Amino acid sequence: MNLGTSVEHLKGVGEKTAKLFQKLHISTYEDLFSYFPIDYINYSEPAPISEIKPGYVCTVRGVVAKVSGPVKAGRYSIITVTLKDGLSVLEAAFFNQPYIKKIIKAGGYYILRGKISLKGQKLLMSSPKLFKDEEYYELTKYPVPKYSLTAGLTSKTVSKALKAAFVDAEFGEECFSEDILLKYKLLSHKEALEKIHFPESDDDILQARRRLSFEEFFYFIMLLRKNKSLSVSMPNNFKMIETADTKRFLEALPFKPTAGQNKAWKEICSDMCSDSCMNRLIQGDVGSGKTLIALLGLLLAASNGYQGALMAPTEVLAVQHFKTVKDYIKKYDLCFKPVLLIGSMKQSEKKEVYAKIESGEANLIIGTHALIQEKVVYKNLAIVVTDEQHRFGVRQRQALAFKGKEPHILVMSATPIPRTLAIILYGDLKLSAIHELPAGRTPIKNAVVGTSYRPSAYKFFNDQIKAGHQVYVICPKALSDEEDDGELENVIDYSEKLKTYLPNARIEYLNGKMKGPDKTDIMNRFSNGQTDILVSTTVIEVGINVPNATVMMIENAERFGLSQLHQLRGRVGRGSAQSYCIFISSKEDDKIMERLGVLKDTNDGFKIASEDLRLRGPGDFFGVRQSGEFAFKIADIYSDSDLLESASELVDALLSDDAKLLKSKNSALRESIDRYIEQSELLSSI
Ligand code: ADP
Ligand code: MG
Repeated sequence: MNLGTSVEHLKGVGEKTAKLFQKLHISTYEDLFSYFPIDYINYSEPAPISEIKPGYVCTVRGVVAKVSGPVKAGRYSIITVTLKDGLSVLEAAFFNQPYIKKIIKAGGYYILRGKISLKGQKLLMSSPKLFKDEEYYELTKYPVPKYSLTAGLTSKTVSKALKAAFVDAEFGEECFSEDILLKYKLLSHKEALEKIHFPESDDDILQARRRLSFEEFFYFIMLLRKNKSLSVSMPNNFKMIETADTKRFLEALPFKPTAGQNKAWKEICSDMCSDSCMNRLIQGDVGSGKTLIALLGLLLAASNGYQGALMAPTEVLAVQHFKTVKDYIKKYDLCFKPVLLIGSMKQSEKKEVYAKIESGEANLIIGTHALIQEKVVYKNLAIVVTDEQHRFGVRQRQALAFKGKEPHILVMSATPIPRTLAIILYGDLKLSAIHELPAGRTPIKNAVVGTSYRPSAYKFFNDQIKAGHQVYVICPKALSDEEDDGELENVIDYSEKLKTYLPNARIEYLNGKMKGPDKTDIMNRFSNGQTDILVSTTVIEVGINVPNATVMMIENAERFGLSQLHQLRGRVGRGSAQSYCIFISSKEDDKIMERLGVLKDTNDGFKIASEDLRLRGPGDFFGVRQSGEFAFKIADIYSDSDLLESASELVDALLSDDAKLLKSKNSALRESIDRYIEQSELLSSI
């Protein structure tokens, strides 16, 4: 079968499973192969009960001394199993699993795996997984992949489908020549896929990851080169004249712009008034005040009679920008006529907005990627600003750029990108860097602690809320899933738990699985001060600005990349009050504490990114990811920067020998590049 075959053809995949796969955007064999594990579990030999510690996921083996319950406790019905090995005893609690009573027999030997907590003086294993010996020992042989799932689907089902697909699929010719594979020490594409899904060792995972990251960079750079003409300097179709509006706005502000802001604005203004089209990146740490610079650029366009667009990566952020702009218009009498365009709006609302954009009645269009949909026709789009640009695919940015007559392009990012990478990624994009934060900010106080610190933290939340402030709590997971072994906190259970500790606090949760309008409502309530504590996944990471929030607590901090933690921390410390960031690690391992300690010692985004690279072991790539950075599926621009450079070198070598890749020796390569481009076009049109 070829790779485009529908997964429905696979043995063992019925209509129901196919539907579940559909939810994960897996419809063909190829989709399935490129659905990479998000982590691997190394099932270790069972440990003696006497050696287990609270806070860790452990495996124990022993004889069942007693099965008691079920006992009702709130919405739970609990069965308690007492397990013995030698002289040591461990209690395990099963929640809402009445059938356990039928399966477990007192006197039998079992293996239990689950998270250990402290209940009074006693250790307790909660919601363990139960194994028979043979079943468990089979798992200890190899790393076991874990996939991102949807309700009703297990990692086992995904693995089974993959196994069938490998038997059935016909892989085309390997796109890289033998020489290239040797030179860059790469596995073949097919081998890499086999090893990423069915590794026999940690080294298999590393090798597979290396090949797949390399090819991801390779295709990405090829795509950039193909569109190279975009970044060479183009004539200015929208030449501006500096107006009094921007000066007036700057003078009316209650604060003085920082030196970095002033410089960036000068550069932008002179670009837009020059003979060539602007193509500029503003790089500035979180909180450095990039939004103001963007608004100045947009205001210059509006006061010159043109339209401008501001594109944000999430609806929440788009709505926030829209609100800020409306406030500014009221306060400073700006000549903006703004509209908001986001995917979750009603069709009739959208139509109205489309009409305003087409007629030119709107001169500032704020939104998500809904801005680049075909239906949007601009009257005279002169400048496009993309916020937190690394979240967008290159294609998306370009599609927007093509909407008008090559407008000025301004991209804003808080991601510290090393200079060499910036050149590979952006070519001739000019750079304005804002190095300082606005004056008067009190530095954030940081703590890196274990889970035993929680009760003190909750007391502290209470004090801060009483003082009129607000709190963010970040958990790595949106909801608990079947495969959950309790190691990672999820926002739903966590906010319930928090309510029992802080019954008077107004607590809400937010995750990426919620509908757009719901998310927006929750964010709005938090930003209006109607919620005290927001328990959220990293969906709030990008750009949210609530100056009244003074505490950020991050659960399972060890599971995030340092740069990502730094971005999260940037959500607080935005007002004049002292702010705090508490990083909770569920493992108090020396190495992990050293890595997180970097955040305590410095506030410099560049330094943090490079330290992260140094302190991360090769085994840490999965689980700890700078998730979402540049929208790469598997590659990571920091830890794989050497691969990025090799891939760039290879692209240059290939193109200098055969500029259009028309030679017959390059035909397999050309085909796979075309396929990649086609797919990324599909992706950006979703
Ligand atoms: P980011 O660069 O992370 O996008 P924002 O643009 O959201 O940062 O700015 C963060 C906050 O700082 C906003 O409330 C903004 O009004 C404020 N701000 C921006 N520039 C200054 C300045 N020069 N002095 C004081 N506050 C400023
Ligand atoms: Mg921002």
